[in-house]
Amino acid sequence: MTTLDDLPLRDDLRGRSPYGAPQLDVAVRLNTNENSYPVPDAVVDAIGKAVQAELRDLNRYPDRDAVALRTDLAAYLGHGLTPAHVWAANGSNEVQQQLLQAFAGPGRTALGFGPSYSMHPLLAAGTGTRWIGAHRDPDFGLTPASALAQLEEHDPDLVFLCSPNNPTGTALDPGVVTAVLGAARGMVIVDEAYAEFARPGTPSALALLSGHPRLVVTRTMSKAFGFAGGRLGYLAADPAVVDAVQLVRLPYHLSALTQAAARAALAERDALLATVDAIKEQRDRIVGTLRARGTEVADSDANFVLFRTGADQRAAWQAFLDRGVLIRDVGLPGWLRVTAGDPAETSAFLTAAEEILP
Ligand code: PMP
Repeated sequence: MTTLDDLPLRDDLRGRSPYGAPQLDVAVRLNTNENSYPVPDAVVDAIGKAVQAELRDLNRYPDRDAVALRTDLAAYLGHGLTPAHVWAANGSNEVQQQLLQAFAGPGRTALGFGPSYSMHPLLAAGTGTRWIGAHRDPDFGLTPASALAQLEEHDPDLVFLCSPNNPTGTALDPGVVTAVLGAARGMVIVDEAYAEFARPGTPSALALLSGHPRLVVTRTMSKAFGFAGGRLGYLAADPAVVDAVQLVRLPYHLSALTQAAARAALAERDALLATVDAIKEQRDRIVGTLRARGTEVADSDANFVLFRTGADQRAAWQAFLDRGVLIRDVGLPGWLRVTAGDPAETSAFLTAAEEILP
């Protein structure tokens, strides 16, 4: 049998593992921060009609620049943004890959403050960018002083910030974004995949875009919109950044079906985003219930919660799985992450937690 070792693979990819949250067929799946609520029937019909209307023209390439979709996304974001400030791709992962292709790559560096989203270093690896693993504080916070000291030490070409941060759930102190923007020589990407779940009063970096041409905010329809299977992520930035990613994007990267489905979903956003409050309620229920029994829990502005297990989080993860509850081991010793699901899923998790956690 041929193995990877037999192929002329790039040296810097040898020995690496692909991104891989297990996709197991269990009753309660709370491991990838999806929205647990299925797409409502009225929205299914609207997306169906929009996709149907594209089918006869599938002999033609789609709008390469996705202008109508970018117009709808800009209107959703507000903050005075126009289609020229917005770019979309197949998930915010692809948006971030394009940003690395345009602004990092061979001979350049990207820095992130861990623990954070595990795809950031993998996207760096795939684009030949050298990754610099900077650190959050032991309580998972990040102070402007700590961020600045690490930036000064490493002087990266591109910085990833993540707010609310995955896997800790905590939103960034807005002072960190301003401080990093003031000090960084290169691009600053703020990954706001979970922005819609933030507690009231949490500011978005969108408010800082004006006057900061090296700032990029990435968002996704995978979480709050419950559109993970539709694959639609986007960014907001200075129009010059949108010009830059167009140098590296594949032509026609967003299919006509994706563009039509995403536009229909955006038009139905009131129905889709109605799930956000219900999910936040279950998130706060998880935080409250675990804290009440003495379990340490990180503050969460997202649709998931990071909590303490015993020393062996791998054994705890397996114990949850044995009870039909799939959650996430993000590789942080002594901690596991659970997505806030619907009330029944949350109850299943909390019942198992009561049995498993010390
Ligand atoms: N950023 C963060 C912080 C995430 O947690 C995720 C999804 N797990 C993404 C980006 C990627 O989402 P998508 O590609 O589905 O937009």
